[in-house]
Amino acid sequence: MTTVSTREPIDVEEIRADFPILDQEVHGQPLVYLDNAASSQRPERVIEALSRYYRRDHANVHRGAHALSVRATDAYEAARTTVAEHIGADDASELVFVRGTTEAINLVAGAWGGASVGEGDEILLTKMEHHSNLVPWQLLAERTGARLRFVDVQPEGAGLVMEDYERLLSERTRLVAVTHVSNTMGAVNPVAEIADRAHDAGALCLVDGAQAVPHMPVDVEEIGCDFYAFSGHKMCGPTGIGGLWVRGDLLEQMPPWQGGGEMINRVELESSTWAEVPQKFEAGTPNIGGAVALAEAVRYLEEVGMDRIRRHEDELTSYAMERLDEFPEVTVYGPREERAAVLSFAYGDIHPHDLATILDRTGVAIRAGHHCNQPLMDELGVTATARASFALYNTRDEVDALIEGLDFAADVFGGAGG
Ligand code: PMP
Repeated sequence: MTTVSTREPIDVEEIRADFPILDQEVHGQPLVYLDNAASSQRPERVIEALSRYYRRDHANVHRGAHALSVRATDAYEAARTTVAEHIGADDASELVFVRGTTEAINLVAGAWGGASVGEGDEILLTKMEHHSNLVPWQLLAERTGARLRFVDVQPEGAGLVMEDYERLLSERTRLVAVTHVSNTMGAVNPVAEIADRAHDAGALCLVDGAQAVPHMPVDVEEIGCDFYAFSGHKMCGPTGIGGLWVRGDLLEQMPPWQGGGEMINRVELESSTWAEVPQKFEAGTPNIGGAVALAEAVRYLEEVGMDRIRRHEDELTSYAMERLDEFPEVTVYGPREERAAVLSFAYGDIHPHDLATILDRTGVAIRAGHHCNQPLMDELGVTATARASFALYNTRDEVDALIEGLDFAADVFGGAGG
């Protein structure tokens, strides 16, 4: 990779050469990987960073006086700074390393929610949330007697109904928890405005950034939210590592979530005191190698340029939508414009699972199912959709391969009906 000015378009062939996994055939066809919303692939240098860490630097962190422990601790804490800066955090101590978005939201529901939410309080969610941003709140509501409320989505998942948001916000609202980008519809929500209005109402705001951080510049200070959650494996980093950013004073005030080693200051038989943040929220041995490799993924993405990644994916998405429009039997869900590179669609009466299986025979990997969005599926009146999602390394030729796959599927099924 070489760094280039942010106005120049991405050299996608150069980028593809960085991703060893893309250079293979599936069922005798070149792999066309369009399942990036589920998990992206990693460039060689991220794989190498993980391997180098285990070959040279590994020991447990924050404990030993020996050289390897100091090196591992330095690498882990440097990774925290890199990742925190990437999302615009003022201070690296505001970033807790977690397993991913799911764990981040469970941490907030468990630690903050357990201490701050009671009977009669309301948590305001939306009908487009991923199960990860629904179920932890359901569990909290069950434990505390709080009530969940849900902002409506526009027809065909085109976005949130903001009037409904205004209507549901009240002095009972303790938290608004909303996805930045819909993992099924590609809708990009106005999270800065949502956070602002939540604060006006005296509530806090959590943003699920799982589908935003990999694809666009994100600045938590500009958004003005209180919690921001994301996953490393969707942004060219390893699985099992992600981040929870929490506004500093709030993180200080929150009680611990999990107890154990690393998160304590002094332990006696009956009670303990806590380590400083963020260690207070990182009980046990953390995913050190994962954090180090995630920081490498962040450097890689920044060298390519988040603005350029966004533009590239926008162009691909517009092209894919144009090509899908050629099929009268295709319904694309979500907004037509101002969207992210996630395309959910129905193809006549071919079941999405059948479609994904047929496309796989042509080398094209898409996702079929409810995408952990069952309540949204209910809103759309379907049980599943087919979903193609793009990343920085996808090409127009790959969009063409998807389109050819649709023709092939229609041949196999004797037409798409619909
Ligand atoms: N939120 C959204 C919007 C997502 O797309 C996902 C992953 N599909 C998650 C949360 C959960 O992420 P993870 O499985 O990495 O915890």
